[in-house]
Amino acid sequence: MKVTRELLREIRNDLPMKLTITRLGQHGPIGKHSDGFFRFQCPFCKELRATVNPKNNLAHCFSCGENVNNIDLMMLQGHDFLPAVKILGNWLDQYRRDLSDGRSTA
Ligand SMILES: [Zn+2]
Repeated sequence: MKVTRELLREIRNDLPMKLTITRLGQHGPIGKHSDGFFRFQCPFCKELRATVNPKNNLAHCFSCGENVNNIDLMMLQGHDFLPAVKILGNWLDQYRRDLSDGRSTA
């Protein structure tokens, strides 16, 4: 996998954060749907107020004000940048395959 600017953009904007958090399972933050938004436990302040913006798939914490994307989330789990990008790139491929098969995992 070649790490391009375009790939990084797609990982941040096109791979649903909910899917990343679901995949992380017990290693990742807890999340829930409320008021039409997906929210998860902020890795910085631990409040359940990191909220994914459906327009750009980026999360903003309404408690501490931090912003988090998919790559940040993986790195906060202890992954280095390149391994994080590779894992997310694979999940993005799989997500797109599922979409084109008419299945949704998100
Ligand atoms: Zn926070």
